[in-house]
Amino acid sequence: MKTTGIHIDLAGQTALVTGASRGIGREIALTLARAGANIIAVGRNIEAKDNGLGAEIRELGKEFHAVDCDLADRSQIRALISRLAAEGRKVDILVNNAGVIRRARAVDHADADWDDVMAVNLDAPFLLARELGRQMVERKHGKIIFVASVLSFQGGIQVPGYAASKGAIAQLTRALANEWAPFGVNVNAVAPGYVDTANTAALKADESRSAALMARVPAGRWGTPQDIVGPVLFLASGLADFVHGAVLPVDGGWLAR
Ligand code: NAP
Repeated sequence: MKTTGIHIDLAGQTALVTGASRGIGREIALTLARAGANIIAVGRNIEAKDNGLGAEIRELGKEFHAVDCDLADRSQIRALISRLAAEGRKVDILVNNAGVIRRARAVDHADADWDDVMAVNLDAPFLLARELGRQMVERKHGKIIFVASVLSFQGGIQVPGYAASKGAIAQLTRALANEWAPFGVNVNAVAPGYVDTANTAALKADESRSAALMARVPAGRWGTPQDIVGPVLFLASGLADFVHGAVLPVDGGWLAR
């Protein structure tokens, strides 16, 4: 991987970003493309959804492929892996970003919600990391970046399934890093704090809860998807070649307080 001064150059590399239809994932895909990577955007019905991402990326002179995959369905993940192999697409950078949240008190947290959260937030990232990581290990290079959360460190309030899934992602990051660091594959995570996206719309709409949350953020504001992409870009680049198993808070200081 080439880096020139502080210029990050991902030219010639392919990044697969899950959940690139909107929010943090869309911004990550765009930023990696701006740094020179070709992009495979994975999501539900993402081939038909026109969120303008493909046009923006092609305008940068980079390749863009949208691939439909419901990450809650293992058979669709297996089909995705087969399709990538059949099309001869090698993934140098995997960003496991897609995620869902279900807010409910623990006593009301339904089985179906628990299963959905675990399938998308934990099972799918593991399956993708296992299958694409195996190829990276063979090639002796690659970057895997999980999108964890401050709830990888804290229990949160009325999101028990989500907190459990994100806690597990932090441990998975460390477990895979231990296995794959000797092969030149970097496995790391970013742990966003409170970021203004659809994921947090219900919280933001609750004025008193939102004010209480922001009063506790040293930076004093909601994060934006743009706040998250710099650390992801760093972890995707050669600047992070000696970084293994890190779960990097990107939270306006939330965890420091
Ligand atoms: P978002 O705007 O709700 O985006 C979630 C993305 O995940 C969407 O692209 C969505 O695609 C995709 N997704 C959900 N279920 C899927 C499925 N079954 N199959 C394929 N794709 C699926 O949320 P966000 O805030 O950008 O979240 C991105 C990541 O950051 C998540 O892992 C989230 O947990 C994490 N995070 C967010 C915050 C925050 O404050 N926002 C904080 C910490 C961590 P569709 O268009 O198909 O729904």
